[in-house]
Amino acid sequence: MSKFVADLVKKVKPSATIAVSMKAAELKRAGKDVIGLGAGEPDFDTPDHIKAAAIEAIQKGQTKYTSVDGTAELKQAISGKLLRENRVSYQANEIIVSCGAKHSISNLLNAVINPGDEVIIPTPYWVSYPDMTLLAGGESVIVETTIESNFKLTANQLEQAITTNTRLVMLNSPSNPTGKAYTPDELKALGDVLLKHPHVLVATDDIYEHIYWGQEPLANLVALLPELKDRAIIINGVSKAYAMTGWRIGYAAGPELIIKAMRKIQSQSTSNPCSISQAAATAALNGPQDFLMTMKEAFKQRHDYLVSALNDLPGISCTAGNGAFYAFPNVTALIEKLDGVNDDVELSTWLLEQAGVAVVPGTPFGAPGYVRLSFATSTEVLKDAVQRIESSLLSYS
Ligand code: PMP
Ligand code: GLU
Repeated sequence: MSKFVADLVKKVKPSATIAVSMKAAELKRAGKDVIGLGAGEPDFDTPDHIKAAAIEAIQKGQTKYTSVDGTAELKQAISGKLLRENRVSYQANEIIVSCGAKHSISNLLNAVINPGDEVIIPTPYWVSYPDMTLLAGGESVIVETTIESNFKLTANQLEQAITTNTRLVMLNSPSNPTGKAYTPDELKALGDVLLKHPHVLVATDDIYEHIYWGQEPLANLVALLPELKDRAIIINGVSKAYAMTGWRIGYAAGPELIIKAMRKIQSQSTSNPCSISQAAATAALNGPQDFLMTMKEAFKQRHDYLVSALNDLPGISCTAGNGAFYAFPNVTALIEKLDGVNDDVELSTWLLEQAGVAVVPGTPFGAPGYVRLSFATSTEVLKDAVQRIESSLLSYS
């Protein structure tokens, strides 16, 4: 039957993060005692005032199609958010609302990539960037960053990677999976390189911007270098900041022509994102923001606990991040210790089978020898997970 599946689709890998989350959920449903540290979603509930806005939208009959690219109210709320928090100015015609930031990225790639165009993606990358690039007909140019640069792309590396075929550079800060964020100086250095190459677009995936506890302010490329505004596309959404992963609202802000092209794609694919979710997202962006601080503090505490606990385990070495909700330890020494475990993919299976802990291997993030553990779960659960890993290692040796 596989003859009926398109050749392009056969080349695409399913999302590893989703696969691990699904596997853990399936094992739990089957009665297995599994701790899932695979899922990249906040464990907090969506704040009540956001839920109330959705209920009100239903009661008021806001249950019809909206404009393909989002309601005027939500686009205004996004415009206000971008000005208030990021110091960048975008009008409604420069904004599109989609069914999650993932959808915004997919729309963007489909809107700007011609067959064979190159997309520069620094490692470790969010698992979906290369496959979304492939689906859009582009070629991923994977640039390996190192632990010495804190897993961040350097200006020199960017300069080296750009060719006449480069169409887009994907930046993600704070990063999934490393939790590292670019400092304003680092980002400006990358921007200075981009200024020299007017044929290159840049996408900044800012989905974790509110989960950031670094010393320096989290910089926005367009605010730092307004000269790049006509080549930059800001990607963001409400999934992570407001614990709204299931509501499926993301957005992009960028040059009008590109946003228009994205709108055309959306008009011929999904149409508008859910009307009720849009009302909820409007309330999220316009309403009280104290939830952000509460959530960030909880993530920071969990981060501090988990990174230190992982470093106490034999064969695991984890650097601190300053954002997002993932620990990304190096596990090469552990792999060497375990017979029959040859890489991070096999180690993840071993951890699931021996310790009952689901983690995502580093390979699908372009970083073999690492694993990703999500700390978007209570410290109690994290402690339990660490204890389980420790006991499995003790009983092994
Ligand atoms: N970008 C990154 C880096 C992510 O980790 C995710 C995961 N949810 C997304 C984008 C997409 O988020 P969503 O589609 O839920 O808005
Ligand atoms: N982005 C999250 C993660 O990395 C959610 C799953 C996904 O969309 O890939 O786990």
